Amino acid sequence: TEFVTVSELASMMDVQPTQVISACMSLGIFVSINQRLDAETIAIVADEFGFEVEFVSAEVQEAIPVQEDKDEDLLPRAPIVTVMGHVDHGKTSLLDRIRNADVIAGEAGGITQHIGAYSVTLENGKRITFLDTPGHEAFTAMRARGAQVTDIAIIIVAADDDVMPQTKEAIAHAQAAGVPMIFAINKVDKPTANPDKIREQLSQMNILVEEWGGKYQCQEISAKQGLYIDELLEKVLLEAELLDLKANPNKNAVGTVIESSLDKGRGYVTNMLVEAGTLKIGDIILAGRYAGRVRAMHNEHGKNLKEAGPAVPVSILGINGAPSAGDKFYIMDDEREARSIATKREQLYREQGLRTQKHITLDEIGRRL
Ligand code: GDP
Ligand code: MG
Repeated sequence: TEFVTVSELASMMDVQPTQVISACMSLGIFVSINQRLDAETIAIVADEFGFEVEFVSAEVQEAIPVQEDKDEDLLPRAPIVTVMGHVDHGKTSLLDRIRNADVIAGEAGGITQHIGAYSVTLENGKRITFLDTPGHEAFTAMRARGAQVTDIAIIIVAADDDVMPQTKEAIAHAQAAGVPMIFAINKVDKPTANPDKIREQLSQMNILVEEWGGKYQCQEISAKQGLYIDELLEKVLLEAELLDLKANPNKNAVGTVIESSLDKGRGYVTNMLVEAGTLKIGDIILAGRYAGRVRAMHNEHGKNLKEAGPAVPVSILGINGAPSAGDKFYIMDDEREARSIATKREQLYREQGLRTQKHITLDEIGRRL
């Protein structure tokens, strides 16, 4: 990875670019004034001039106003749930089932659209939001970017199979993220189903389910036949209650990008989840390396929205590019400032190159004492 240019490094150290060029030459490296240098060269050259190089995160330099919440501003919010498990164990079937449990989907009358997440309102009036990107790709992609939007993970295991490698991976991801797990033992309609074998295999991983005296909630289900889905959702609500999830809806929205794409007719479409505050049409938005104004917003039923509060997934138009899954979004007061931060991030991104996963940049050179 290459960072600053010869002339930038020179000005940071308050020396002439020619001095940096000769320092490089004495190392056997021939550079021009606008050439970017790699970390090692920068460190050695800086050392020649008595400087020490520190690599810091690029994220910290921006001043994004984040409104603090007072206790009385916090209101209960819906939990955000991810379903994870081995391939063919029933993730998609379960997510489809749950989507059909939504009591307001029918009223809305629109066509169901994939926007990376959906909310269901249950008969008791309670709402749950599900991330519906298959597998744990979304979960891990977001975690890799430092975003954590999931409150609860449902780990689904087919009762006619075993705790499989991807089941173990899903468990490991949830544990690493400190996200509480609920186990759904699926396909209990099958004659070959053996739920106790699954409980046994989980216990061998130190995961003891409630009915065996442990702390993990567990529910036998049949996603295909729609059996015990309500019971599973009750357990999700119970877990959510214990977590006491709250957010302030009365401030500028903040949240996370779930996915984004370029639509031929409509431009960039960004699917995202509001985590706190309320997102409104016309808001100036900064999302990852892009910015814009919220021109239109709709939900998973294709219904146009004027605003969206905490734990509401939305699809919006108006951002000037495609931010990555896991990028945070913020609302800014000044469109020029939003664009300027986005541009700066884009430059840093290019400088760091697409190769690197680590978000490091040469930001400051401290004089050695
Ligand atoms: P995914 O790969 O985890 O998303 O699994 P799918 O939901 O695509 O399911 C894989 C296969 O298992 C499909 O053929 C489903 O019809 C079937 N399946 C899912 N849930 C059940 C269930 O509860 N009972 C039975 N018998 N089959 C199921
Ligand atoms: Mg699937």
